[in-house]
Amino acid sequence: MKSRTQQVDLPELREQGIVLCIKREDELHPYISGNKYRKLKYNLERAKEEGHSMLLTFGGAFSNHIVATACAGKENGLNTIGVIRGEELETGWKDNPTLRLASEFGMHLHFVTREAYRQKSAPLFLKTLQNKFGDFYPLPEGGTNALAVKGCLEILSEDDTQFDAVCCAVGTGGTIAGLINSAGANQTVWGYPALKGDFLKDDICKFAANDNWRLITDYHFGGYAKVTRELVDFINDFKKSTGIPLDPIYTGKMLYGILDQVKKGQITRESRILAIHTGGLQGIKGMNLVLKKKKLPLLDI
Ligand SMILES: *Cc1c(COP(=O)(O)O)cnc(C)c1O
Repeated sequence: MKSRTQQVDLPELREQGIVLCIKREDELHPYISGNKYRKLKYNLERAKEEGHSMLLTFGGAFSNHIVATACAGKENGLNTIGVIRGEELETGWKDNPTLRLASEFGMHLHFVTREAYRQKSAPLFLKTLQNKFGDFYPLPEGGTNALAVKGCLEILSEDDTQFDAVCCAVGTGGTIAGLINSAGANQTVWGYPALKGDFLKDDICKFAANDNWRLITDYHFGGYAKVTRELVDFINDFKKSTGIPLDPIYTGKMLYGILDQVKKGQITRESRILAIHTGGLQGIKGMNLVLKKKKLPLLDI
């Protein structure tokens, strides 16, 4: 599967002769969107080959991976269980658009405390879940494992060798690892972490076989799923001027970062840049509920 590439036409890019294109991986599937489609592909194959009838995975209240897994399970005839961070959601989850959608796809939601959630990769915790739910194929948080990285090798295609740099948002690092391993020798991969912390570099190195990449860590906006008025305004303006919708947790922060670097003269003139739209648009509704509570402007839908 190949997604289309759209050029962004903005005065600040034109002035410096910079070509910025966006690869619309968000259009691959309405719910298994963007990189989650790539990350699930070979895991679904493996789960079926091994004869599993259930997928179990982990995520928070806005998780694109939870929705993607729920939908992929339904499409592939596999039951799904979502282990969700935050016991407090147990009573109010029906008001959360992401969890509601996952449940509508048939996912069983299992809420755990933040403390318990931290044990998500501990063998003992997995064993407890197995005792409770029976056999399952486990997918880690964010879906990142070796098979996910293999799927992300398929994001770039031959036409993309014309670009000098490939940009993507970074959560658990699986997507960027796939891009790093499939980028051409003349290309650099730039990652824009959506969260604070130094651990990401090590996580990426677990799967990345090249050193043709760097992280640009100035655009997390205070941390994972943290959003400011400035970011909301940027995303709304970007959609108005380009027609391209961005999500507030990943791709909005990345595009804000790229255009800010352009404004600051940190990107070489005449560069050709490809930014990967990794999807995540389902998260806008849930984020708008948070913004409303904080009396901040809402994201246009
Ligand atoms: C999950 C996600 C990411 C992060 O991908 P990783 O492989 O975890 O780094 C980026 N963008 C969107 C829209 C996502 O849903």
